[in-house]
Amino acid sequence: MHIKQLFYRLVFLSILNSILLMGCQDSNSVPDNNLDKIIVEGLYYADSLPIKVTIEQGIISKITREPIGEGSERYFISPGLIDHQVNGYLSHSFVGGDLDAEGLKEVTEGFWSKGITTYLPTLTTQTDEVLLKSFKNLNELLEDSHLAQSIAGFHLEGPFISPEAGFRGAHNLEWIRDPNWEEFEKWYNASGNRIKEVTIAPELEGAMEFIRKCREKDIVVAIGHTAALTDDINESIVMGATVSTHLGNGCANTIHRHHNPLWPQLADDRLTASIIVDGFHLTREEVRTFFKTKGPDNTVLVSDLTRLAGMPPGRYQDFGQELVMTEEGAIMLLSENVLAGASFLITRGIENVIKFTGCTLGEAIDMATRNPARLLGLHDRGEIAVGKRADLILFEFDNGSFEVAKTVVGGEVVFEK
Ligand SMILES: [Zn+2]
Repeated sequence: MHIKQLFYRLVFLSILNSILLMGCQDSNSVPDNNLDKIIVEGLYYADSLPIKVTIEQGIISKITREPIGEGSERYFISPGLIDHQVNGYLSHSFVGGDLDAEGLKEVTEGFWSKGITTYLPTLTTQTDEVLLKSFKNLNELLEDSHLAQSIAGFHLEGPFISPEAGFRGAHNLEWIRDPNWEEFEKWYNASGNRIKEVTIAPELEGAMEFIRKCREKDIVVAIGHTAALTDDINESIVMGATVSTHLGNGCANTIHRHHNPLWPQLADDRLTASIIVDGFHLTREEVRTFFKTKGPDNTVLVSDLTRLAGMPPGRYQDFGQELVMTEEGAIMLLSENVLAGASFLITRGIENVIKFTGCTLGEAIDMATRNPARLLGLHDRGEIAVGKRADLILFEFDNGSFEVAKTVVGGEVVFEK
């Protein structure tokens, strides 16, 4: 009798469930795969204990700690990776205005297959005309919402940076200039108000006012490619700067041992440090020192990837500059003897930061998920928590090597090995 009642109850519940699901499908035009309830399981990246994550309508709806299938125990589960400094990938550049929908798809799907679920296309120093054209082009491409969910805005690095050799890095001196709000507003409008982050040098004429205006628009202000000393750095923080762009790079090879841009940025806890840990941009000792100073909550990994990433070693032309990609994967601007972006994804940064600093896997992943999400104000992602968007990855981590097995974006499996 008791079993019979239970049986009827189960039948009733399953019919009710189907009716409710049908109701959802009728009233909603989003693809079916967004509606399906899926469960992803693996070892939680922060403590290596089993976890089951239930996803409904693209959102994490339940998290339980319970035994998982034996096959699932080889995979870690973490939020999808976030990279807020990406200039290009797989031969495609975000600057220039000629990226097409196919190119954006290739780049975004390429990132998904490596575990990056959110990125900021980054535009560096160019003429007014090229920047305008590039932002307009990118904004138009984002009408494809399927890809747009992984592009949380754009990062403008330059042209308002230091003109001094070394500090300007590979940015073209001809186009570097003082901050100009009217000019910036044109780019901002062309981008569909999607410029999310700006990197500038605070010592430039008009920089403080520029930072204030950016903050009014809720744009994250980063300081980088700067020769600024303590006073200017302090003032920029007061005005609203919150992050150092690729700390330790965009800096001259020879600097004053006491008075230079590095100490005040390192010393101030109000600045998060973004660092490129590809093994070329910073030494092991720099990474250790920066990490010890800033700590696991205030350090963010970025790649600074360029369009040469994923291409073979050799000589390349890029906006009139000759670049060399070495056999080891360093990208050099020979005329200035400086690095011109990177060829390794932030997954290499995760591997290296563990090797260089001895930090935990959990801390390394946080530096590429939770920390950048918080920095950029992306409150819907960056964590595995109920109510967050279901951007998740399953990955293996064997002998210090990171390999993605499955990527979920907005509740949809977008990559599976
Ligand atoms: Zn840079």
